[in-house]
Amino acid sequence: MEETKKVALITGGSRGIGKEIAKKFAIKGYNIVINYVSENTDLNKLKEEFKETEVLFVKTDVTNYESCENMVKKAIEKFGKIDVLVNNAGITKDGLLMRMKEEDFDKVIKVNLKGTFNMTKNVIPYMMKQRNGRIVNIASVVGVTGNAGQANYAASKAGIIGFTKTVARELASRNILANCIAPGFIKTDMTEILSDTVKQNIHSQIPLNKMGEAKEVANAVYFLASEENTYITGQVLNVDGGMVM
Ligand code: NDP
Repeated sequence: MEETKKVALITGGSRGIGKEIAKKFAIKGYNIVINYVSENTDLNKLKEEFKETEVLFVKTDVTNYESCENMVKKAIEKFGKIDVLVNNAGITKDGLLMRMKEEDFDKVIKVNLKGTFNMTKNVIPYMMKQRNGRIVNIASVVGVTGNAGQANYAASKAGIIGFTKTVARELASRNILANCIAPGFIKTDMTEILSDTVKQNIHSQIPLNKMGEAKEVANAVYFLASEENTYITGQVLNVDGGMVM
């Protein structure tokens, strides 16, 4: 067990924004725990991408509380501590409320919001003991503004924002800082499914006139999670090209 290097656990770190966040921490010399859930994950390819870093890969569904507890235990067994938790795993199941199925509402809340609770609840005892920790939760600008066709997703992300502010208040005395990043539209598998017309429409709402890169989100996450941040907690930082001001 190596306890000198800092340790970051990233949920949904196999693809998209989560993978870029993991890469950023890897470059900065952290040991990493990468969580994913899909059977289709090409683990060998992923291991190759992180070959310079000590990485623990854990296949776990964040909706399951006990599985999250086990993942945290595995991380502690391997690295002895967790300095940074990034709750990034998330899904969409879009549709207008009129047509939204109950199961699609429940599933999105369960992954995005309950998953964030499951992981945070299991990690904080270790952070409290070490009297140091950084939690960064990936919300979304639509959790602030709402978005037609995303009642489930917007509710889950607004929930994450309220949850994060509460964690920040409860744990500030233990030097645990909790913040949200609210990305706008970022180029990943999640947004790849949008039609060209929708993408054009989105561009017109963004002052910087382009979709964001996953790296641009990762840089902001790293700042809030690093030792550079000692006095920011309970905040929501939009990384959205100026879309929401
Ligand atoms: P992707 O769809 O590219 O990646 C989603 C990640 O979440 C994957 O690693 C996936 O794992 C993981 N995941 C999904 N469900 C579970 C689960 N039940 N348990 C564990 N892991 C799970 O999404 P993005 O990278 O685009 O999004 C990352 C985060 O950023 C999400 O929270 C999303 O809501 C948020 N966001 C994204 C925006 C965007 O424009 N892309 C905008 C605003 C917010 P696996 O590979 O195994 O399926």
